[in-house]
Amino acid sequence: MEQLWAPWRLEYVQHADDGDECVFCRAAALPEDEPELVIHRGELAFAVLNKFPYASGHLMVAPYRHGSAFDNLDESEALEVHRLAAEAIGALRAVFAPDGFNVGWNLGRVAGAGIVDHGHIHVVPRWNGDTNFMPVLADVKVIPEHLVETRRKLSEAWSGR
Ligand SMILES: [Zn+2]
Repeated sequence: MEQLWAPWRLEYVQHADDGDECVFCRAAALPEDEPELVIHRGELAFAVLNKFPYASGHLMVAPYRHGSAFDNLDESEALEVHRLAAEAIGALRAVFAPDGFNVGWNLGRVAGAGIVDHGHIHVVPRWNGDTNFMPVLADVKVIPEHLVETRRKLSEAWSGR
């Protein structure tokens, strides 16, 4: 029997960790030389690695604008979010060679969104037979080394237009 697959439910843990501060606004404001998990910056949106990945390379693309949501993006934001998600797929293919991807939006907590005030799209690489997922780490204050390395590889593999 196929298991219901809802990786982004883990996101609420990330939200709980960061208190009232919006993790997307915080990430967007990071200096270029201290990207933490920010992979790529566009004009209106950016890509950031999920701190609690369901799979290697699980990332998110968000507009810079707080209060953005799937149904209130302006045309240029919608275009760039989707363009960056497509570029992310290219980078993930180059680094991880996955068999497929889940790409999607969670709107509202009932749908699994951990952060409801700042719109974002998930891009999750999938491999044949990948029913297991990485455990959620107890120490959420420290970015694990493998994420730093993944961020670097994806950032280097990223090729935009
Ligand atoms: Zn925000």
